[in-house]
Amino acid sequence: MTQKYIIETQSHNCLPIVGSEELFPINRVYCVGRNYAEHAREMGDDPDRDPPFFFCKDRTCVFPVPFLEVGKLPYPSSTEQLEYEVELVVALKSGGVNLTFEQAAQSILGYAVGLDMTRRDLQTNAKKKGRPWEEGKSFDFSAPISPIQLKDNFLLKENERISLKVNGELKQLSSLNHLTWSIVEVIVKLSESFALKPGDLIMTGTPENVGSVSIGDQMTASVDGLGEISLIVS
Ligand code: MN
Repeated sequence: MTQKYIIETQSHNCLPIVGSEELFPINRVYCVGRNYAEHAREMGDDPDRDPPFFFCKDRTCVFPVPFLEVGKLPYPSSTEQLEYEVELVVALKSGGVNLTFEQAAQSILGYAVGLDMTRRDLQTNAKKKGRPWEEGKSFDFSAPISPIQLKDNFLLKENERISLKVNGELKQLSSLNHLTWSIVEVIVKLSESFALKPGDLIMTGTPENVGSVSIGDQMTASVDGLGEISLIVS
């Protein structure tokens, strides 16, 4: 007998794959905070004393942005300080707990370019009051992400430039070799606290010089070799 649900079920949120008709079904979305020392400093933290840490966005926050098109990012409610954070995103094809470095490396399906959009005023207020970050971080359309480039087709050297422009002007620029925790280290550390699953996405943190956008601004987020996505705040 087919299982029936008492209410309408929501369709599974997915990301497209470059060069494939298949879709990547999203499970959990993990995010790393303070994974570039200069960004930790601009947030008022001491990167030598405070290591990176994790938080999550709901998978419903993710929305796919195709390469070579300009997407639309709806300006969210309840904020006057919508900020961009360009990030490398890692997609997992396998999971587990307490992974070794080798298992962590093998768990990677591919990579994407994403934005960890942040209602910074709400996040700052939550930090001050010791409250959770959901209102600042895990809201609708807060995770625009490119199609996934499969690891088999794209060798990430972890020294690529990562950048974000607003209206053509360079705002964020760094290199993946400035990641405090490398991609494999992030996966190993996550697997110590969570049972990782195929379908998990990891947003690996943003470099320095985050800033805010207004309606009408166009953001372009890029990781060299991986691709770039563009979005107009509307
Ligand atoms: Mn972030």
